[in-house]
Amino acid sequence: MLKFDIEKSDGLMRAGVIHTPHGDIKTPCFIGAATRAAVKALTMKEMRDLGSQAILANTYHLVLTPGLELIEKAGKLAEFSSWHGPTFTDSGGFQIFSLPDVKITENGAKFKSHINGDKLEMTPESSMQAQWAIGADIHMAFDQLAKSENKRDMEEAMERTHRWLERCKKEHDKLLKEHETEQYLYAVVQGGTFNDLRAKSAEFCKSVDPDGFGIGGVFVADGMDEMLKTVNSILPENKPRHLLGMGQEPIDLFVGAEYGCDTFDCVAPTRMARNGSLYTLDGRINIKNAKYKDDFTPLMPECNCECCKNYSRAYLHHLFKTDEIGAKVLASIHNEYFVVTVVDNIRKSILDGTFSEYKQKFLSRYYNTK
Ligand SMILES: [Zn+2]
Repeated sequence: MLKFDIEKSDGLMRAGVIHTPHGDIKTPCFIGAATRAAVKALTMKEMRDLGSQAILANTYHLVLTPGLELIEKAGKLAEFSSWHGPTFTDSGGFQIFSLPDVKITENGAKFKSHINGDKLEMTPESSMQAQWAIGADIHMAFDQLAKSENKRDMEEAMERTHRWLERCKKEHDKLLKEHETEQYLYAVVQGGTFNDLRAKSAEFCKSVDPDGFGIGGVFVADGMDEMLKTVNSILPENKPRHLLGMGQEPIDLFVGAEYGCDTFDCVAPTRMARNGSLYTLDGRINIKNAKYKDDFTPLMPECNCECCKNYSRAYLHHLFKTDEIGAKVLASIHNEYFVVTVVDNIRKSILDGTFSEYKQKFLSRYYNTK
């Protein structure tokens, strides 16, 4: 079983440590998006230097390229990418179900590679085998994304996800016996915006007894607090919970932690950075805006990242305007540092009992709601 120690809790909220084969993750924690075993615009050293504790790669993308055989030969994900710390893989379900002509059967999902049009199939079993081959510490169960927000579609996708979860668990247990390494499986709770479905899904996922839980398919922050309250009141307290794909807005990280989520991942902070949309304590700004042309102050004076400590807004503006590679690098360092640090500070505030004050102070300034 994946070892998870809770250091302090308050209601559903908790601070703890997940012990993975590649090292510890102090939670709550923001996990870096390394979709293709790489964080866009950043080296793994830069990720380590900015305080990132773990990365999440995507099974679908890695199966297509460079392929499982090569990653295994390289010594698996952490070694291949030179990350050497804790790693997660997403099952690939989310990407496959977002493809234009995916065909879903009870067996799995048939789709065409977006790279060369090859016809492929991913099943719960093959997703588990792929994730074991990639070798991340924590794997996500293969889940079906609903076709729409319609309740019937949601329920159908959830029920199939549950049947697939049983197959994932069976395959995972088989692979666990065949390997000398320890790798862990998270079930994925579905049910969209319907709290009764979320409750049903949480109950089912709990009954399968995985090592931890992913909470998937959350696209709207509206009502997320109620949903997380429902789900995390059902899930066992002693296993970690990962909120999948949420973290673009700082408020989602506060709400996620407050209602019992331990880890988060989101591609948005680095994606926005590459477009010049940068976090500050007073909200997000677009550095390409003409008003920053001769602004010689740091991007965010209170920030200790390499970008803010060394460069001005005017310089960043210039890099974006001239399309320099360094623009994406410095902007990504800042945005990733910002979200990692916000979640680290949430952890500190849980440990010293000041979460409510920190949340109120941070959010009222960020969203200018004083
Ligand atoms: Zn910064």
